[in-house]
Amino acid sequence: MQINEELIRNVVAEVLAQVGRAPVTATSRFTGRHGVFTCVDEAVAAARDAFEQLQERTLEDRKGIIEIIRRIAIDQCVELGTMEMNETKIGRLEHKIEKLKTLGERTPGVEFMRSEVFSGDHGLAVIEHAPFGVIGAITPVTHSLPTLTGNAVSMIAGGNTIVVNPHPSGKKVATEGVRRFNREIYRQFGIDNLIAIIAEPTLDSAAAIFKHRGIALICVTGGPAVARAALNSGKRAVVAGPGNPPVVVDESADLDRAARSIVRGASYDNNLLCIAEKEVFVVESVFDKLMQAMERAGAVRLTTREIEQFTRNAIVQVGEGDHKHDAPSKDFLGKDAAVLARGAGRVVPEQTELLFGETDFAHPFVQIEQMMPFVPFVRVRDVEEGIARAKEAEHGYRHTSLIHSNNVRNMTRMGQIMDTTLFVKNGPCMAALGLGGEGYLSFSIAGPTGEGVTTPLTFTRERRCSMIEDLRILGRTRA
Ligand code: NAD
Repeated sequence: MQINEELIRNVVAEVLAQVGRAPVTATSRFTGRHGVFTCVDEAVAAARDAFEQLQERTLEDRKGIIEIIRRIAIDQCVELGTMEMNETKIGRLEHKIEKLKTLGERTPGVEFMRSEVFSGDHGLAVIEHAPFGVIGAITPVTHSLPTLTGNAVSMIAGGNTIVVNPHPSGKKVATEGVRRFNREIYRQFGIDNLIAIIAEPTLDSAAAIFKHRGIALICVTGGPAVARAALNSGKRAVVAGPGNPPVVVDESADLDRAARSIVRGASYDNNLLCIAEKEVFVVESVFDKLMQAMERAGAVRLTTREIEQFTRNAIVQVGEGDHKHDAPSKDFLGKDAAVLARGAGRVVPEQTELLFGETDFAHPFVQIEQMMPFVPFVRVRDVEEGIARAKEAEHGYRHTSLIHSNNVRNMTRMGQIMDTTLFVKNGPCMAALGLGGEGYLSFSIAGPTGEGVTTPLTFTRERRCSMIEDLRILGRTRA
């Protein structure tokens, strides 16, 4: 017997609606897929159907939908974080778990939606923030499901739906997360495929998303290649690109506090955060004291010879001809400090969080985004030289920079010169995302395109509604 699946889904949706489990809603031929697709055209069509259904819903519904994503990220963080660790094999399990929970708890939601009003002699203009429609999102391997979770919360809060092309090495956990989010959203709200994912992502599927007519906006989170590709796509793009965050420590700093902050920020998830401390410039007069403070804070110092051996193992050359450049070796990227130490010919306790040591400015660990828990420390004459070196090492990404100082002039000067999206003073990098500092959180920090730490408003377009010569209730309007 031929079974008409769509008819059955419609009947089931109707029954659920009548028993109060889900509101009556239009269904889509993709209902029941729970967001998992192999074909970009189908994923975009399903997300478009979901967008049209979401348009019919209230802000309160959006809030409820987001609440489901938050709850799953928080309640299932151990299972999903472990899945992410087992699949990607980079970073630290405790941080994989914590990142999911934190994004579930702290990503800005519908409370960030607002309208602006201009009220004057000529009446009233109200500016509201409308969704773009279906957003194409590209996510990194360094935080596969966490980035997706944060993007989903903010984008849906803005009224959009999403098609995600995850990193191939984090696709399984991303797909499982999407399946769980959609299944529960469908059960409670009757809309499926608010988040569609390409379960077998490739560069071709990313390119197809970039040029798809049904995609209204692109949001990429990743390194230089994907940032370039998004900027060349011909579509409006929100680009959360790479960084190489430098730290300056001057002679006025509280050195123990600086050391504790550097250890905490640089070792978090084995240095995978794009905002993480990647190289440190220290004023000569306090250099040796800071190195001692780093050891007191639990980091292990490598000798010059150990650093040389480690560099031979951990830095590889990639690219051809003029494009040949240093890059972190996959054998060490995101691995534990104890694994790195073995590459340096040293044995350290397994629980060691961070390795560090003295290098010169030209050293590859200063110049590249290493994403592994070894941080180079470079001696500088004074704070001016430190800031100048920091500027050079940041390579113009304008992503993140940090200073440890009690001299307001030095802080101000560094802030002005660096011109980075995030500038942190006297704390670990994550304080800039509200973790131990003020502010809110996102794992897509859009430097190149200027949106900064993304929020639901990042993913909206302005619409103005003007009432001429009426509705201003103060005084008289112009006749
Ligand atoms: P990556 O650039 O290798 O990959 C990121 C994503 O882009 C993946 O999904 C990948 O498949 C895709 N991709 C790569 N090249 C592409 C191309 N030419 N066209 C289309 N898609 C392409 O980066 P990664 O190793 O997954 O993540 C680490 C990088 O991401 C670091 O450079 C880090 O600084 C950056 N990052 C930035 C932020 C931010 O908020 N600014 C957040 C997290 C990570």
